[in-house]
Amino acid sequence: MPALVVVGSLNMDFVVSVEHLPAPGETVLGRDFQMIPGGKGANQACAAGKLSARGIGKERVAVRMIGRVGYDVFADHLKASLSSAGVDVSAVHAARSQPTGVALIWVDRAGQNSIVVASGANSALTASDVEAMRRVFGGASHALFQLESPLDTVAAALALAREEGLATILDPAPAPAQPLARGLLEQVDILTPNESEALLRLGRPAARVSVDGAPALAVALLQLGPRAVILKLGDQGCFYSDGRASCHQPAFPVEARDTTAAGDTFNAALAVALAEGKLIPAALRFANAAAAISVTRMGAQSSAPARAEVDGMLSLVPNHP
Ligand code: ADP
Repeated sequence: MPALVVVGSLNMDFVVSVEHLPAPGETVLGRDFQMIPGGKGANQACAAGKLSARGIGKERVAVRMIGRVGYDVFADHLKASLSSAGVDVSAVHAARSQPTGVALIWVDRAGQNSIVVASGANSALTASDVEAMRRVFGGASHALFQLESPLDTVAAALALAREEGLATILDPAPAPAQPLARGLLEQVDILTPNESEALLRLGRPAARVSVDGAPALAVALLQLGPRAVILKLGDQGCFYSDGRASCHQPAFPVEARDTTAAGDTFNAALAVALAEGKLIPAALRFANAAAAISVTRMGAQSSAPARAEVDGMLSLVPNHP
């Protein structure tokens, strides 16, 4: 059975709608309250789980998650949410001394938000934990990483995955303040920044990246060490380059409502497609379709589409490049 591994964070997001964001010392009354499973690692695992269900008679890609939660009710809730998407959570272990990671989010009427993330157990995922879970990589072809775990853990896990023969995909988000070490980036087979993350890696100010500007940006990023780069270009789709071959895949035309976790859905879909043996152009098209559906819906894990929806979109728009 084809398989992929996600190494990363699990958070419970507490989201409260407010009239206005509280100023220091102010108390405001919230309106709705929602508790939503999140964390970039869990978002990618959940989306991959949903996308790997291919229908009767077709082999599905097994999705395994490596991460840390606390000993609390949120841990059970987060693991149950992943399990219901078909993700194997047997390598999501409970940290003894830390609570489950949480994000406290206020959203005002204009859609502006303030977010506080307490990483909790995610910060207790160590390189030796991942080493102890080496068997989880066995038989898998691809591994997904993000930057909500400690950087030295990400570096060690990338190296371990490559030692085990997996292709590594790193989403360099959220963008860390410090530069990523060359040694870390050299363990990356595919680096998948969005526009601002790509520019930040090169020390350039945030701006929109045009499709015409993408090739030079990709070449500059390749010089940092990864074997290939996929630039996520929002409503312009994505651009791939490995220094020899390159291609642009335009986005699917949809009406965007909420782009939260579009990048997570993209990475999950990319990994599922590659684990199924699709070549890069078809994998990019699959990832664009899955991410396009996700931006038509609110939320993170809740916005990730089912496999049948993506297959439906790909057959509805067959001539889309
Ligand atoms: P991130 O969510 O990491 O900031 P992007 O905004 O680039 O990354 O979005 C990731 C992917 O989601 C894009 O590469 C594209 O496939 C898809 N996408 C994003 N915005 C749109 C949109 N408005 N219409 C269609 N697809 C979109």
